[in-house]
Amino acid sequence: MKEQACRKCHRVVGKAEVCPVCKGTSFSADWKGYVVVRDPENSQIAKALKITQEGSYALRVR
Ligand SMILES: [Zn+2]
Repeated sequence: MKEQACRKCHRVVGKAEVCPVCKGTSFSADWKGYVVVRDPENSQIAKALKITQEGSYALRVR
């Protein structure tokens, strides 16, 4: 099964009940694009996606 991504912050969480980043509980396996953020403060993509913690994120989540 495909990993799930948080609908709120786009974090790819695999299997989770609660998002470790935003504490959201809504996930979707229907997402596209995969980005790994290592340095959110100096990453344009992190800024664009409003990512504040390093980790793996989906670009688009349905
Ligand atoms: Zn989240």
